Amino acid sequence: MFSLNEKCAVVGIFNVSNAAKYAYYSLFSLQHRGQEAAGIASSDGEKIYITKDRGLVTQVFDEKKLKKLIGDSAVGHTRYSTAGEDSVLDAQPIFARYDLGQIAVVHNGNLTNAKEVREKLIKEGAIFQTFMDTENLIHLIARSDKEHLYDRIIDSVKKIEGAYSMIFLSRKKMFAIRDPYGFRPLSMAKLEDGYVVASETCAFDLIGAEYIRDIKPGEMVVFEKDKEPRSIQVFEPNPHKCIFEYIYFARPDSDIFGKSVYDVRVKMGRELAKEYPVEADMVIPVPDSGIAAALGYSKESGIPFEMGIVRNHYVGRTFIEPTQEIRDLKVKMKLNPIKELIEGKRLVVIDDSIVRGTTSKKIVKILKDAGAKEVHMRISSPPTTGPCYYGVDTPTKDELIASSKTIQEIRDFIGANSLAYISIEGLIRSVGDDLSYCMGCFDGNYPVPNKN
Ligand code: AMP
Repeated sequence: MFSLNEKCAVVGIFNVSNAAKYAYYSLFSLQHRGQEAAGIASSDGEKIYITKDRGLVTQVFDEKKLKKLIGDSAVGHTRYSTAGEDSVLDAQPIFARYDLGQIAVVHNGNLTNAKEVREKLIKEGAIFQTFMDTENLIHLIARSDKEHLYDRIIDSVKKIEGAYSMIFLSRKKMFAIRDPYGFRPLSMAKLEDGYVVASETCAFDLIGAEYIRDIKPGEMVVFEKDKEPRSIQVFEPNPHKCIFEYIYFARPDSDIFGKSVYDVRVKMGRELAKEYPVEADMVIPVPDSGIAAALGYSKESGIPFEMGIVRNHYVGRTFIEPTQEIRDLKVKMKLNPIKELIEGKRLVVIDDSIVRGTTSKKIVKILKDAGAKEVHMRISSPPTTGPCYYGVDTPTKDELIASSKTIQEIRDFIGANSLAYISIEGLIRSVGDDLSYCMGCFDGNYPVPNKN
């Protein structure tokens, strides 16, 4: 039994005084990538300090705890909630002492050969402390016969497969590395005399860091005091960037893979309007995930945009709850329509995706109960037909409504007057065909086999 890292956020701060505080603020802006646990490890050059716990960033840390995380470098992590193990042991960073000293690591992504590697390590006598695939790395590094950490990291990543945007912190250095496919994002910025690495650029905005560039697929960047960051292309790049980052996961104020998430989402809405126009009185988003695409749909179609559904922000994401009954209740707790606005109206409702179909079904119902004349659902991603093995938390294939039902059947299930999804071609037109994407959850083409 082991768990995967799923969608998470990672940050690294190097050569900036009070590094932990900057890591804290960076994690705060990346909270949407994981709400289950948070942690920071810092180094003062002599020793690594660590605090991690279950909960949101603001719950895990206070002034007192941050003060103990001394030093000019730090790595941080927020972990996404999964149905499996949720003990504090499964929070990151993972910290270890080994023959070269001390190390802490943070990881976003899933390793697709984690089980195989873990079983081999256990057979060789390794004792695991956590259920996380990331712990494999620590063991591989500790067992490598190379003299320097730098070579040991390279040695170790050659034994793992799948998705990883990872940051390692030793007492004096920091190493940021991205898998050859570049599934998950990882960007780099300048801050004072030091550097910041983070999952999304919105973290840079908050702490006043200046974006430099993305860490490239297959690249490792080494940060060392009084030296320029050193780049090593460990693997031949084979880019398959996660298109779902644009659809749902990233914050709209971030640039992901060099493009504005907001811009891409507006374009998706425009494409949807071109592909699936409908006569209606207003376009309304499912907040917050459908807002930018709904604006695009409205601009392209000329149908007015209205915030017809209000979201209660103090409820966690509906996905988090493990049982169906609670999920249903939570949709009602979270979203409420504005009756006066929608009564008697023909609505185009935009959301980013349909996973199990629960949310859309409830939304159609609350809108119809509130007096909507027609509800036309438009989805700014193609039907989700398969799970993600690389770090987006999707349920098993059986639970994905589009894996077994036709669009007509899904329309009947959710009770909408019409339903349409953006086409794969429309999606690619929105993101631009200058980058290569992984769309495994939509087209079944998985660039790395899942061996777990
Ligand atoms: P469902 O009710 O299962 O069909 O879930 C669809 C809703 O979940 C949509 O409103 C999406 O915005 C949201 N969603 C899609 N993918 C994810 C994900 N990986 N994690 C959390 N929420 C998601």
